[in-house]
Amino acid sequence: MSADTAAIALTTPLRDIPGVRREHADKLARIGVPNIGHLIAHLPHRHEWIRAEASIEDLMPDSVASVRGEITACRTAGFGHKARFEAVMMDPGGGRLDLVWFNQPYLRGKIHPGMRLRVQGKVVRRGYAMQMANAKFEVLDAARPDPEHHADDDYRPVYPVTEGVTSDQVRAIVDKVLFKGLAQVDDHLPEELRRERSMPALRDAYRMMHQPKGEEEVKSARRRLIYDELLLFQLGVHMKRAHLRQTMKAPALARTDSIEQRIRERMPFELTGAQQRVVGEIAGDLALDVPMNRLVQGDVGSGKTVVALDAMLRAIGHGHQAALMAPTEILAEQHFLSMSAMLEGSSVRIALLTGNLPAEERVRTLAGLADGSVDLVIGTHALIGDQVAFKSLAVVVIDEQHRFGVEQRAKLRVKGSAADAGAGEFDTPHVLVMTATPIPRTIGLTLFGDLDISTIDALPPGRTPVATRTVTSERRGEVYRWVRTKLDAGEQAYIVVPAIDTGSASGDDSLRDLRTVQQELEGGELSGKRVAALHGRLKRETREHIMARFRAGSIDALVATTVIEVGVDVPNATVIIIEHADRFGLAQLHQLRGRVGRGGKPGACVLVADPKTDDAVQRISTMCETTSGFELAERDFALRGAGDVFGTRQSGVPPFRIADPLRDAALLDQARRDAAVWIGANPTLAGDADALVRRRLIKTHGPWLGLGDVG
Ligand code: ADP
Ligand code: MG
Repeated sequence: MSADTAAIALTTPLRDIPGVRREHADKLARIGVPNIGHLIAHLPHRHEWIRAEASIEDLMPDSVASVRGEITACRTAGFGHKARFEAVMMDPGGGRLDLVWFNQPYLRGKIHPGMRLRVQGKVVRRGYAMQMANAKFEVLDAARPDPEHHADDDYRPVYPVTEGVTSDQVRAIVDKVLFKGLAQVDDHLPEELRRERSMPALRDAYRMMHQPKGEEEVKSARRRLIYDELLLFQLGVHMKRAHLRQTMKAPALARTDSIEQRIRERMPFELTGAQQRVVGEIAGDLALDVPMNRLVQGDVGSGKTVVALDAMLRAIGHGHQAALMAPTEILAEQHFLSMSAMLEGSSVRIALLTGNLPAEERVRTLAGLADGSVDLVIGTHALIGDQVAFKSLAVVVIDEQHRFGVEQRAKLRVKGSAADAGAGEFDTPHVLVMTATPIPRTIGLTLFGDLDISTIDALPPGRTPVATRTVTSERRGEVYRWVRTKLDAGEQAYIVVPAIDTGSASGDDSLRDLRTVQQELEGGELSGKRVAALHGRLKRETREHIMARFRAGSIDALVATTVIEVGVDVPNATVIIIEHADRFGLAQLHQLRGRVGRGGKPGACVLVADPKTDDAVQRISTMCETTSGFELAERDFALRGAGDVFGTRQSGVPPFRIADPLRDAALLDQARRDAAVWIGANPTLAGDADALVRRRLIKTHGPWLGLGDVG
């Protein structure tokens, strides 16, 4: 079908457009731009001014101009940072322009006398001559007809060059179809909202991005498109929240004196004020049949575990079940041990479920979960496996949630709903997620708008911040001699060796490093001390055995990969040495450092590093200066941006195309409020008026928000 006037639709493939080269259409299709609709949404990443061309004679000093002419002479001059490349350009009218480029010696190989160039840059008067410094230039190919003169100033889009399609080629295709294509673009924003927010219509915004009349238009268009991206996302978050709260029931776990009393008896220590406040917030949620969806954030070592236990015991007190999911087996095993200890002598039946349990034990636990004879289960993602079914799951806790994806979070919630024995009483458990990666307020409210947030903002009494310093690898010997004195005093140490890539074959390198470090230490600075190596690929029994011995104090130093990064809690460990610390990110270093200083004795962290990049130098010095996880997170956000910090895939933070939640915080806030109002009025976006926005929303965010089932 030929795509003439009437036949053009947003779905018309680019290859069917007359005048579009097949080769270009195919390349664009390969980068996800198969048709007109996609092309319109394929935004330029920047814009540039192309100035109207003048003859040299007419150039005005101190203006930005564009001229073409022939190079008649070139030379390199000056030395060092004053090195420059000079050329003389003449145009047919006999005008002369001096060109000079600083610090671009390679131009000597690119520009020669006899060539014709078009240059653009700022013109200044130098004595009698006119000069242009660091001009942008384009070589006019003698074998091809000269390009047309730029008659007017033109503010042009520059498209990312991918798959060998140049920006100019994309622009040429856009120019062919934009006008007809835009006629088919419908706006999903209600006119009224759009006017109130002073946003251009969607159609106009796209036109202004692709064919702007000036900087103002691009600004205005970007504002609209960024707002759109954030608004769609916020609508999704609010829709999901509304859906959960309005259509799903969780069990109401009323506070009773007897349950409060029994829980208190289980706590090995007095809760801090911050812990009590958070426990209160959670208990308040649990008492209602509205499903809880709460995030507890608290710095490493702030005592989130007992808060989780408190919540779970409330479910069990009412005759239901509770589950805690941890990101690593080591952490699950540790939670299992410490909770078993706290619950010793109580009637609570507790079980562990990880990926590599002996078959018999696994079968027994699964049966117990299904028939209700297990009250509390602690496990890894094995908990969301297909064969796992609960009798009456009322509270779910997800520890270190940033290590899980949103889908995994959602799956564990569904586990509770699937329990047919509980049918009729409630449809979903209460969910508590915990993280030690604090989220700056703006980001928290907006990206995790479907969660309520509680913050444990104080550490248990008697904690002193972990003293952190850095040394270069030359001084490792000294460091380990100092470690030895700590071990002599009965304290214990972690020595962390970076995992190059855990879980894949290339992890072997780090295992080799790990063993090398262990052997060196045993034969050298730590000879006579009990040193063990711990990594994720040891058999479970071996690993448990090592952790148990370390906990009992019969191992002095643990050489480990980052398997100990999250959650591991051995109060007598006071020293952590992190080898190649420059290979870790801020959040990870902070987590690792949090392994020490958890008991009464102060902790110390030594970062052994020879940082080579500015970025690494920054990270290391930030770690030495700052002990607050919140402050570190904010610096981390500033350095890397939200997407990187959360790791898009893991946290489920959606990849935005042009929005940046930090930079665009104000628009994000606006979008959040607008979305709340909109969903408040129409929770499922039902009806014709909202059909378009609903369709776009589900297309963009449906999968990761789990919106497929909404309405
Ligand atoms: P995180 O928030 O990092 O998960 P944990 O829950 O592992 O922290 O607690 C860190 C350590 O502090 C543990 O050894 C725990 O027993 C201890 N702890 C927690 N709360 C208190 C408290 N209120 N008083 C004394 N020690 C506490
Ligand atoms: Mg923890």
